[in-house]
Amino acid sequence: MLLIRALRGLLFLSLVGITLFLAYAVTRGRPEDLPWTAFDLSRPIGLSTGGKVASLADRLPACAAQLDRAGVAYRALPPLDGGPSCGYADGIALASASRRAGARRIVLNPAAPPMSCAVAAGLAMWEWHVVQPAALRHFGEQVTGIDHYGAYSCRRTYGAAAGRWSEHATADAFDVAGFRLADGRRVSVQDDWRGTAVRAAFLREVRDGACRLFSTVLSPDYNEAHSDHIHVDVAARGRLGGGYCR
Ligand SMILES: [Zn+2]
Repeated sequence: MLLIRALRGLLFLSLVGITLFLAYAVTRGRPEDLPWTAFDLSRPIGLSTGGKVASLADRLPACAAQLDRAGVAYRALPPLDGGPSCGYADGIALASASRRAGARRIVLNPAAPPMSCAVAAGLAMWEWHVVQPAALRHFGEQVTGIDHYGAYSCRRTYGAAAGRWSEHATADAFDVAGFRLADGRRVSVQDDWRGTAVRAAFLREVRDGACRLFSTVLSPDYNEAHSDHIHVDVAARGRLGGGYCR
């Protein structure tokens, strides 16, 4: 009886010790894994980064402060009232997705599309931590441009006449069509998703990396409607880790 009590006590103390040690180690080493730590765009992507990006939605001052701190060049846009289901109050236009020392300036084509600040924060992290490293590994080149189909669009999902409103209706989504490399090569979602091995691998890698940042990521793997772009958004369910990645 005494032995069992002693063993139980020992087990309890070890569990407390292990928990405290893990909490200490994780907090000191990888704050991006913990939901309660401060968000920082320049930190690597961690387990809780996607939730933090989604939680920036509709919080312009907090989001703009993050862009400022990370050195992202942007212009705040006046609020847009698009009716009962459309518009935004947290719109910005990215001057370029990056203004980091030593980093190339990424150009969005078309330039400066209106998007919510939270989407811009996710795109900046995606570029630094996912897209550029993947481009260097697969092509030995940096990405200098991202072709896209825009962010804001007052429409329901799939452009249907009825049903749920799209995250695009509040500028909380962005459709990526392709990438331009520094040497002039282009990688397009439509042509290269099932293209050469290296191009297809690059596109899947940037899709998978986006899934760690955005609430929803829909690629050509999802359906025919996404055969020519990768959709990313900061839908609210992403705050609790309810992401969707296809
Ligand atoms: Zn979309």
